[in-house]
This record gives sequence, structure tokens and C-alpha cells, in this order.
Amino acid sequence: MYGVENYIHLGAYPAQAVLGLGSASAKFLGAGMVHFGPVRLILLVIWIYMCMYSVLRIEFNPTVPVRYKPYVNILALFVGPWILFLLLVVDTAKKAQEGNLAFAEAFKEVLRNTFNRSLRECSSKPELPIKLLDSSGRDFSEVYGGSDDSALANEMLHLTQQIILDGINDRASDILIDPKSNDMYTIRFRIDGLLSTVNEIESDRCVAVVNSIKAISGMDIAERRRPQDGAFMAKLLDGNVFFRVASAGVLGGEKLSIRVLNQSTGLLGLESIGFADELLSSVLNAVSQSSGMIIVCGPTGSGKTTTLYAMLGEIDFLTRNVVTVEDPVEYVLPQASQIEVNVKADITFANALRSIVRQDPDVICVGEIRDAETASMALQASQTGHLVIATLHSSSNMASLVRLMELGIKPMLLSTALNVIISQRLVRVLCDDCKSPANLSAEWIIQLQKSKWDHTKFMQANGCENCHGTGYRGRTAICDVTILTGNLKAKLLDRNLSHGDMKKDGDISGRSTLRAEGLKKAFAGITTIEEVQRVTSNLG
Ligand SMILES: [Zn+2]
Repeated sequence: MYGVENYIHLGAYPAQAVLGLGSASAKFLGAGMVHFGPVRLILLVIWIYMCMYSVLRIEFNPTVPVRYKPYVNILALFVGPWILFLLLVVDTAKKAQEGNLAFAEAFKEVLRNTFNRSLRECSSKPELPIKLLDSSGRDFSEVYGGSDDSALANEMLHLTQQIILDGINDRASDILIDPKSNDMYTIRFRIDGLLSTVNEIESDRCVAVVNSIKAISGMDIAERRRPQDGAFMAKLLDGNVFFRVASAGVLGGEKLSIRVLNQSTGLLGLESIGFADELLSSVLNAVSQSSGMIIVCGPTGSGKTTTLYAMLGEIDFLTRNVVTVEDPVEYVLPQASQIEVNVKADITFANALRSIVRQDPDVICVGEIRDAETASMALQASQTGHLVIATLHSSSNMASLVRLMELGIKPMLLSTALNVIISQRLVRVLCDDCKSPANLSAEWIIQLQKSKWDHTKFMQANGCENCHGTGYRGRTAICDVTILTGNLKAKLLDRNLSHGDMKKDGDISGRSTLRAEGLKKAFAGITTIEEVQRVTSNLG
């Protein structure tokens, strides 16, 4: 089955594929091209070897007259076509024998097959294990009305699918497509919180990709400047992945930000979030209460939503009525009532919360407290027999209290309603396949010895094939949990609570700050000191 037909499309290969670049970029630089078989690679190597062999033998052989040398080199370069010809003859002979044909007839047939197959392979790609659907479940041909079935449209569809599939396989949380210059677009993935460029695509091809994503997301393709929102889903062999898309006209073209909402990777148990054992039991206890409020805080991308869902996962939905209001709904919880914020339809956090309270819920989950009205309604609900779980955009537990008071919440209400504040950051987890004992600076060793850490236990990131050379794979949370009980509540009520109290207060045994929590993880070989420093550097 491997013969001249395979060999002939060597010329159609992009350099990346021929050179065997295995990185993410080469993976879909080759997406618009033909796949590359091992037999063709071997033939290529033989050709190159023969060229080099003859050049070396002749070029450096003093007995060959100088004037002949260029001819020999040129001849060496023509060895390749001769291999091709040889294979062609072998294929033809085989065909002639099998079909009982005359040699000339068989030769014509082989040539025709070879070219047809090359053309076919160049224009059609192997089917990818992914299907993109719009929010009502229609695929591309239905969205476009089945009008465009050209090879070009198919190629663009394939490229679009490949980008989305690579994003899912690489565990990207976001896929960003934006113009880099007049004739190039970059594709970037956010993996474990950090952006990396995975590909660059010529503008004309990428605009087609942008348009197909806009079409499947229910956006207006003709509108290129005004920001638009949309959503689509991908059907894979092992489940569905949902995407939220935002477009905006930027200098040099149009930018797409695609948020990947992967149900299969999203829902973690509370024990997998990364809480230290003593903190985990405090949090579990708070979640089992019938009233009160739990706040998860942190900056954007600190995994607040994941923790929120993990807490909801600890709740028995059959015995407790759970209602959520989110922007957007990131994971579907089959037994909860989920309301999505939609400003156009006048569904805001505050409006939704007002109607939720009337639905007699046991547990209310507020995606994010952004304004005074939401804050006060959420806290009031938590005082009247509801457990309220909410997130707040703030940098620390103390900052959350300050923020809530800035939103007009009275210390009285805070001290009676609020049970737990959790602030968190995500640190990348070291790749098990390539981590090694860390080479720490003398400065660090002294510092660690001072705090009685065994510095030989710390590990460092190296990078291997399994972690795309980053040294990390996946993330875990470092959390600072404050349980507001007696002492702290009294101080809060007296408006007398300071940052120092939050740190020192003995309300939980072994209370620790984010940084110390991070160092514990580094000591356990889960992450690195550099990573802990990176995510906690903005702490006051
Ligand atoms: Zn690795």
C-alpha cells in the first residue's frame, strides 16, 4: 500500500511536518495540509542520505578532477526522482501482473491514480472527532443553509475544528484569536492560567475561521467593530464542551475570546480543590449549616467559581433546594435551578436574587457580588434561614470585609451573617515526569532554615514532552480560610478589626496566610517556590 502514490505528495508537505516538529504549533500548522506517514519519511531520509553520501565521497576525494565535482553534486540531487521512478515502475509491474494489463496501460492507470489521490488528499482532510454545534444544536451546514460545500469552506471548517479540538486537548481555559499584524493572526491558549502562542495563521484564512466561529455562536458576521457575545458547543466522543465567545473590533481586525467551559474537567470535589486538611473540615462544616454566608474571594482567574461549584457539590440536592444566579452559567448542575444574568433582558444579580428569595430556596449561590444591592440582599437572605455562597473580587479576607463595608453593609449585619471567608490563588502543579530537587539560592536556603523548613524537600520545574516543556501540569488552590466566630465577630462589631487580628486570631487552629499555605505545598513537592511567589506577589 505504500508506493509511489504516497511518495509523490512529499512535495505538498509544509517544512514543519517534514522536520517532524511535534509541538502544539506544528500540530495545527499541519492542519491545513496532508498527514505524514513513516514510509514517506524514510524515503526522504534515504534521498538525503544518498545525496550526502555521493557529495562527501566525491567532493572530498582528491582523485576526482575538480571540474567534474559540480556535475556530480547536481546528479546527487537527482537521485530522488530516480527513486520515485523506480517505485513507479514497481507499482506498474505489480498492477500489470494483477490486472493482466499491458505495461503501458498499467502505467497510465498508476499515474492517473497517483495524481487523483494526491489531489484528493490535498483537498480533503481526515474527519476530526469533533462536531461544532450552535446553541440550538444545529451544525455548520444547517447554520449556513447548506449552501457552501466547496473545498475551501471544508478546509476552513477543518481548521476551525482543529483549533477548538487542540484547545480542549491542551486543557486550555481560553482560546484567544487576535490580529498580530496586517497579514497575520495569532492563536493563543490560556493553559494553567498562563497564555502561550500556539500558532500564527495568515489573515485571510483566519478571518474565515473567525467568521465560522461567529456564525456558529449566533453572532452577526457582518458586524466587525461592535462587541458581540455568543455561545456554541462541541460534541466530542466522550461528552460535550461549551464555549462562550466574545468578539470585538480591534486595531488591524477583529479579536475573538473563547472561554472553554469543559464539564468533564470543571467539577471537582471539595477535597480536590487543595484545602489543607484542617481547613477542609472547617469549610465542610460551614457548607452543612442551614444558614449563614460563605464568601470565596480572589482576583480574576483564581479559581473562585471552581471552589463555588465544589461547595455546591457537597450539598444534597434532593433534600435541599438549590438556586444559583450566575454570569455565565459555567457548569450545568442537573438538580439545581440555575439563572443566568442577562442585562439585555433585565436579569441582573440583584433582580434575580429578589425573585429567588421568593422561591423558598435552602441554598442560594451568587456568582459574584458586584454591587451594594446584591451584597445587602445576599447577606439578608443568609440571616433568614438560607445558606448563601458567593464570590467577591478582592485580594484577601480582610479586603473582603472592607469591600463589603464600602458597599454599605453595616458591621452588625456582617458580624451576624458572615460565617466563612476563603481567599484563594491557583498555583501550577509540578509535572511528575520531570520535577527534580530544587537548586535553591543561598538566600532562600537561609530563609527556609530560619523558618525550620528542610530545604532539600523543595522541587523545581524542568519541562518535558508531557508538560509541553513548562514543567507544570494542572493547578491546585492555595487557600486562606477565616472562620468568623466569637472574638472576630465582636471586634468586627466594634469596627475594631485589623489585618493583624485576622492573621493572629486563634479562632482556627493553625491559621495561615496564603503565602505560608503555598510554601507548605512547595515543601510537599506539589509546586515550586517561584510559583508561590508569582501568585502571592501582589498580596499586601
Ligand atoms: Zn514534564
